[in-house]
Order: sequence, then C-alpha cells, then structure tokens
Amino acid sequence: MRIVIADQMEEEVVKGIGALGQVVYKPQDVKAALQDADALIVRSATKVTKELIADAPGLKVVARAGVGLDNVDQAACKAKGIKVINTPGASSNAVAELALGLILGAFRNIQKAHHQMKGGKWEKKTLTGNEIEGKTLGIIGYGRIGALLGKKADALGMKVISFNPPPRQEDGIVKFVDDLDSFLGMADVVSIHVPATPQTINLVSAANIAKMKNGVIIINTSRGEIIDEDALYDAVKSGKVAGAALDVYRSEPYNGKLLELENVYLTPHIGASTKEAQDKIGAELVRLLNEELGKKG
Ligand code: NAD
Repeated sequence: MRIVIADQMEEEVVKGIGALGQVVYKPQDVKAALQDADALIVRSATKVTKELIADAPGLKVVARAGVGLDNVDQAACKAKGIKVINTPGASSNAVAELALGLILGAFRNIQKAHHQMKGGKWEKKTLTGNEIEGKTLGIIGYGRIGALLGKKADALGMKVISFNPPPRQEDGIVKFVDDLDSFLGMADVVSIHVPATPQTINLVSAANIAKMKNGVIIINTSRGEIIDEDALYDAVKSGKVAGAALDVYRSEPYNGKLLELENVYLTPHIGASTKEAQDKIGAELVRLLNEELGKKG
C-alpha cells in the first residue's frame, strides 16, 4: 500500500500512517507520485483538482487532515470512484478554545496592552475593558465548534444565542433566534462558526454590521469569505465595531489593511494548531484509512 502525504504533517502523524503502508512524504511532483498510490493525504495547501488525479489508477481515497474540503474537487473524485474523507471533529475543541481566547483578549484589551508594554508604554487609562459575564454571545452556526464554544461561554456566565436555521441541535444552553436582524441586534459579541457556502459568504456585510449593536466585538475562526473585510475595516475605523479578532482571511497568508488597526487582533489560521488536535487528527486519519483501504482490498 502506498500513501502519498502531500502537505506538511506532524512527525507523529506521519509515523502513525507509516504503520499502514509505505509513505511518500511531500513529494516534489505530487501528480507523478500518485501514479502508483492507493491514498492521498492533504491539508489545505494542496489543491486536489481533476488534473492532479487524472493519472492515478490505483487511488482509492483522498483524505483531508482537517475539516474544510474547499481544496478538494469532490465531484472529480466521485467520478473516478475515489472516496473523500476528512476529520471533522478532531480540531473542534481547539478552535472553540481559540475563539474563547480571542473573545477574552478583545474584551480585556490583552493584545493591545501587550503591544503597548512592548513599546515601552504604561498607559492603564487606555486599557479599561469589559467583563464577559452577563454579556450576550451571538454564535452564527451552532455546529460542532459553535456548540462547544456555547458550552464554555455558558460556564463563564455569558448568555448564548445563535443564528442557525434548522436542522440544528438543542443543548439546553443556546437560545436560537431565527430572525437574523433581531439576532444581530442582541449580541455583544458575534462569533462565526459556519462553513463557506453561497448563503454564508459575505454574511458579515456592511448592511448586516449596521444592524449589530454599537461597540460589538466580531470574532471569526471559520472561513475568511464570511466577512466583507473592507466593510469590517470601515466599521472598526468608525467605532461601530469596538474590536475584531480574526484567524481566517479571504486570501491567506493575509497581508491586508486590517493589519493597520489597533483594535483588530489577528492570528495566522492557527485554529487547529494544538498538539492535542494534531494527535486527534492523526489518530482519526489512521482509523479512517484502515477502514477504507482494508475494505477495498
Ligand atoms: P459544522 O458543520 O459542525 O457546523 C456548522 C453549522 O453551521 C451547522 O450547525 C449548520 O447548520 C450551520 N449553518 C450552515 N449554514 C448556515 C447559515 N447560512 N446560517 C447559519 N448557520 C448555518 O462545522 P464546524 O466543524 O463547527 O466548523 C465550523 C467552521 O469552522 C467551518 O467553516 C470550518 O471550516 C471552520 N474551521 C476552522 C478552523 C481553523 O483553523 N480556524 C479549524 C476547523 C474548522
């Protein structure tokens, strides 16, 4: 069995996958390496296009180590009888914890304070923050990550509301608000946890930001496309949005104008970057590949 790992992967994960067969790690020419491969593993860097898999007669599985399948042409895989798998739950807690950290950081000006001190300043008066207890957290998309964040925020005394049309999971914590305008008007902090779809792309637009509370905090650890970054820039500049914290961007690596704003806190798509999440992703991949490749031969 030959397994091509096209993208950067933790050493431990590569070792675990090595137990299933011969691993070809980060080949220079992925297309050529696929000619005699049974499985291909990618993260988000490699684009699995029709072209890439055109000459891979033995390829049975394409595995995405992570959640989003934006970089995999699923129709092209299906047409060739190639199963596409991913590890959707493995990084959920890591992302929920990052979102919570970003909320706390934005409420207490932690990142701003850090930068001021590193710049030799001691300006306590500019750093008066807010407490999250009693505030309303509005979660857009109450799925795996959204619900984990809801549970953590509830434990810290926040009220949790969500905009998530059915089907959806009740958990005794969240109050679903089905009218988007009402939802936007109720939240002190809006945290986004939806996939990028035609319905969610640009959901955080200038028009929808205008419906949010003055001084709202916006957190995005889902997909960059959900936010109109120009509209967010204008809204932070005008003070309508008091702060924003982003882990994901329309174009990555991000190098845009939001970097200029003191109240916008940025991380470089590190939602799933914890030791624990990577361990879980590795274990899940090994289990799924075993299942798929064992089944087919
Ligand atoms: P999920 O599928 O479990 O949950 C998504 C939820 O969004 C579902 O409950 C769904 O009903 C809801 N939804 C769909 N369309 C909607 C709409 N138009 N309006 C409101 N709700 C809608 O997904 P998840 O595993 O929780 O992942 C959420 C997001 O986080 C995804 O975009 C994923 O790619 C992203 N993610 C980011 C990182 C990172 O590194 N920052 C890591 C993992 C996942």
